[in-house]
Amino acid sequence: MDYVGIVLFFILGAFTGTLDNLVAYRYAKGNTLFFPKKSRCEVCKHDLTLPETLPVIGFLLHGGKCAYCDERISLKHPVLEIITGILFALLFVQYGWSITTVAGCIMMAALLMNCISDLVYGRVLNYVTYGAIVIGVLFSSFFGLGFVSALAGLSVFVVLNAFVFFFSKGSMAGGDVKVAAIIGAFAGLPGVLLTFVLSSLMGAVVGLFSLVFQRAKTKTRQFFHFSVYWVISGFIAYTYMAELINLYMSFFPNV
Ligand SMILES: [Zn+2]
Repeated sequence: MDYVGIVLFFILGAFTGTLDNLVAYRYAKGNTLFFPKKSRCEVCKHDLTLPETLPVIGFLLHGGKCAYCDERISLKHPVLEIITGILFALLFVQYGWSITTVAGCIMMAALLMNCISDLVYGRVLNYVTYGAIVIGVLFSSFFGLGFVSALAGLSVFVVLNAFVFFFSKGSMAGGDVKVAAIIGAFAGLPGVLLTFVLSSLMGAVVGLFSLVFQRAKTKTRQFFHFSVYWVISGFIAYTYMAELINLYMSFFPNV
């Protein structure tokens, strides 16, 4: 096991988690990535020092509070940083030092940026989406399942989502489709179909739970947005496609 690689990708993921939050937040506020130059406390507007902007460390430095005004820093920052770190490390464990690992990291960074921006601020970032789709199609064409598969993945997802959109009577926003199209570009047609099956299963399980626990219903619904299912399913489909297909074949060897 290459522990150095695992640690490096975890750190890279943690920094990407910081960037995900930053980009989602700044674009939602109408700012760009490079303006304002320094990150600041949202409450007292004090500029943050370099150590204070580091992933997880920045949170722990002053016990989860702003050093200047004592305002609590949202837990979503360190949580997202740790989750992104774990996802990147898992990609490395699966694919090692390869373009596939790097492409997977780019896909997850774009998916998380859009998912956070969609969930928290109700906006999807077009630059991130189209940039990621172009990178995804290039990756698939030269190192993945091929140009046709990427294009098919992209279009199938758009068509499938148009159906879901139609049957959900518009409860799904256009942002979901954009999040999903990124997965199509990177994971190709088989990845898309797998993502769709996984996210439907996840939706069914969560739906069942929220029926059983009526009280948690609204809160669960709010948290488990479609784009969250797709980000999780997209990661699983991209990273463990071969294993899942083998598992399926072992259950249904004649199909
Ligand atoms: Zn402050």
